[in-house]
Amino acid sequence: MTTKTPPTKLDVPLLDLKTQYAALKSEIMPVVERVLDGQYMINGPEVGEFECQASGYCNTKFAVGCSSGTDALILAMMALDLKPGDEIITTPFTFFATVGSIHRQGLTPVFVDIDPKTFNFDAEQLEEAVNEKTRAIMPVHLFGQMADMDTVLDVAEKHDLKVIEDAAQSIGAKQNGAPAGSLSDMGCFSFFPSKNLGGAGDGGLITCQDEDLYKRLLMLRNHGAQERYYHDEVGGNFRIDTLQAAYLSIKLKHLDNWHEGRRKNAALYDEHLAGVEQVTTPIIADGNESIYNQYTLRVQQRDELQKYLGEAGVGSAIYYPLCMHEQKCFSYLGNKAGDFPVAEQAAAEVLSIPIYPELTEAQLGHVVETIKAFYA
Ligand SMILES: *Cc1c(COP(=O)(O)O)cnc(C)c1O
Repeated sequence: MTTKTPPTKLDVPLLDLKTQYAALKSEIMPVVERVLDGQYMINGPEVGEFECQASGYCNTKFAVGCSSGTDALILAMMALDLKPGDEIITTPFTFFATVGSIHRQGLTPVFVDIDPKTFNFDAEQLEEAVNEKTRAIMPVHLFGQMADMDTVLDVAEKHDLKVIEDAAQSIGAKQNGAPAGSLSDMGCFSFFPSKNLGGAGDGGLITCQDEDLYKRLLMLRNHGAQERYYHDEVGGNFRIDTLQAAYLSIKLKHLDNWHEGRRKNAALYDEHLAGVEQVTTPIIADGNESIYNQYTLRVQQRDELQKYLGEAGVGSAIYYPLCMHEQKCFSYLGNKAGDFPVAEQAAAEVLSIPIYPELTEAQLGHVVETIKAFYA
């Protein structure tokens, strides 16, 4: 590689949560004080209020707040009565929690390769992975864009499979007008602080349309008890804190604005990076509306570019460097490198750059200029 002139510097973190908080502080603090004064810290009225707002936002009949996105996935699988050894089809290119929670339920994850354009699993390959042990499909809506739900639902109907959407990165994303989490048996969301709707700590949510399933989720969330100290089955403590729900209610009101800001930034990057041949900007499938939880490029000389960006003050991250089928902890599944080549290639080429809505024009310009300077 030729030696580059050192880049000019400007601080552009991958995510800037302090700026967002500063803008909301005067709205948040009175609510925090009110909840603390009330000391109704578990199952306070704010939990139900938030769930009601969230189900409205996701266009579902019901929503159940819970302790994290990971626990949302676990709770959803518990509510479907899946048995050890049952298979769930999902993607090898995702955050660990998708597959980790399948494993923790004693279920067997089965992978299909991804679509090189969207990074989501290639739903056209689902049917080949179905066998007599298959019970469910878990599409992941990665980086803010929904997986191909039409095909998922077709295959599910044909083979009588359940569908749980891992929508942890995609609250508010849409496909042909339908929000993530509204099209399947259950949608699972995360409020990890770096998600578009980020909590003050861990939190999660499950959406569903079926009342029986909803009641089951409520029960399982609270140690399987409908009536206190009388347990019909074994659940767990999967509750969301009152304080967390109150905090998220405030932020939910701003979420569409933030999505809009991210889309605006994405459009600017798309435009300014279009001429850089070593870079492929994100591709959004027809009918999809992304919320850009991440703006993920495919790039040449990825690791060198990341280092160069870092020297210029620009934060970036690799989501994700190693596919799930290649993780040591899943080696027992018998997959090996080369089994899902499209996902593996993505893992070698992806780089996510700052996309948060508070990004200034100067910051965005600096990211673009630094990428261009690297390849010049
Ligand atoms: C964040 C995330 C989760 C887990 O959410 P937590 O709230 O961190 O437990 C699950 N799946 C995906 C795809 C995620 O990005």
